[in-house]
Amino acid sequence: MRAQPKASHFIDGEYVEDVAGTPFESIYPATGEVIARLHAATPAIVEKAIASAKRAQKEWAAMSPTARGRILKRAAEIMRERNRELSELETLDTGKPIQETIVADPTSGADAFEFFGGVAAAGLNGSYIPLGQDFAFTKRVPLGVCVGIGAWNYPQQIACWKGAPALVCGNAMVFKPSENTPLGALKIAEILIEAGLPKGLYNVIQGDRSTGPLLVNHKDVAKVSLTGSVPTGKKVAGAAASDLKHVTMELGGKSPLIVFDDADLESAIGGAMLGNFYSTGQVCSNGTRVFVQKGIKDRFLSRLKERTEKIVIGDPMEEATQLGPMVSKAQRDKVLDYIEKGKAEGATLLTGGGIPNDVSGEGTYIQPTVFADVTDDMTIAREEIFGPVMCVLDFDSEEEVIERGNATEFGLSGGVFTADITRAHRVVDQLEAGTLWINTYNLCPVEIPFGGSKQSGFGRENSLAALEHYSELKTVYVSMGKVDAPY
Ligand code: NAD
Repeated sequence: MRAQPKASHFIDGEYVEDVAGTPFESIYPATGEVIARLHAATPAIVEKAIASAKRAQKEWAAMSPTARGRILKRAAEIMRERNRELSELETLDTGKPIQETIVADPTSGADAFEFFGGVAAAGLNGSYIPLGQDFAFTKRVPLGVCVGIGAWNYPQQIACWKGAPALVCGNAMVFKPSENTPLGALKIAEILIEAGLPKGLYNVIQGDRSTGPLLVNHKDVAKVSLTGSVPTGKKVAGAAASDLKHVTMELGGKSPLIVFDDADLESAIGGAMLGNFYSTGQVCSNGTRVFVQKGIKDRFLSRLKERTEKIVIGDPMEEATQLGPMVSKAQRDKVLDYIEKGKAEGATLLTGGGIPNDVSGEGTYIQPTVFADVTDDMTIAREEIFGPVMCVLDFDSEEEVIERGNATEFGLSGGVFTADITRAHRVVDQLEAGTLWINTYNLCPVEIPFGGSKQSGFGRENSLAALEHYSELKTVYVSMGKVDAPY
């Protein structure tokens, strides 16, 4: 098995196995090959991971932020040195083409360690509040043991986006990757130890939806950060609320990408394709409802079809491959069902719509698919598909498209393509979403806050804003005089 780790879990600085846990396989989606055999965490493994995190956290919190940051920056360097190896592992874990993983996965994880390592010294300062003779000051203090629960689309990035701010604030983290992509996070844990992170501060345990609650409900856990679907978010936030734990929820979306008729057509099509086909469409912030103003509809669709049909589908390890398989057969079946619903409900299938014959074999491939003439009430326009399926809808006016763009329970992202910069700002001001783009789509550098509104979640990852979600303020009032008591 070409990606078998030493053991299923990484706790207190070392690989740990407990064969009493439910066995599961890690499958390479491009071939169906079993690349690793692992065990889900037993309650004993969960206890061990949380106990070791709790033990390690106090001493870590007592170190200076600069010293903590230095270790994270070293981890970033190691990740960059091993980018090729980590990217290949990410490709095996997810099926995403190496062309993507080499530029977008370990590197964006390294960016998070570098950014949070760098801001540690200044970003965690408190404030001084003058009160006449008296004064108060605030300190930013860690929360304690934080739990991270990941989705399968960006396993290494998610492990780092949660781990970096948690650690730099002085917390410990127990991370559970998705059962579909268990491998990358183990490597991140190994690299952090190599970079000098004290044992126990970043533990990885495996498991699925039955393991997650053992972490979320644990009395020694102070915070849960989930990346996943809205239904999972509701369960996890509900469970965390019963214990008043802090939560960050990075959930699903059905984001509007609006193209006005004065837009640079090739850029808008490029943005729409990136925002629907990158990572085989398995990106939460994708602009899956592409609203195109009627005047450019025909030109937009004909160039979109031409460019989509040139996408290179194939072996993800080939540098030239632009579209790999979906993460699993279950996910592909789900997407194929949505495609059938699109056809049945009357959308026009412009291109794609099935399994490509030439590359598939046991691989879970699917064609990049575009539906035109989609209307707001169709299932494919309302529900998150999480696959390479673009829905193109027509519109007439700015006012109309804003109202229709917002007519969804989701609020993760959105975008607008137009040459009129005043209009661009007017539109993004009115779109109800956490992250918006003007004349581009899906760029998420670590410097900018990322997260959702409405049912897409709350809390923010990345940027200085993430520090607020992994720490809390302690306020100290200092009296310089005597206590004036009336009794
Ligand atoms: P999912 O909700 O099925 O699972 C996410 C994680 O939660 C997995 O690790 C799973 O084992 C765990 N889990 C499931 N039920 C749980 C429970 N009751 N308690 C605790 N943990 C539980 O999502 P998925 O299919 O892995 O990922 C796809 C979804 O993630 C999509 O909806 C996508 O939009 C979303 N996503 C969001 C972001 C973001 O940043 N907003 C990023 C990537 C993916």
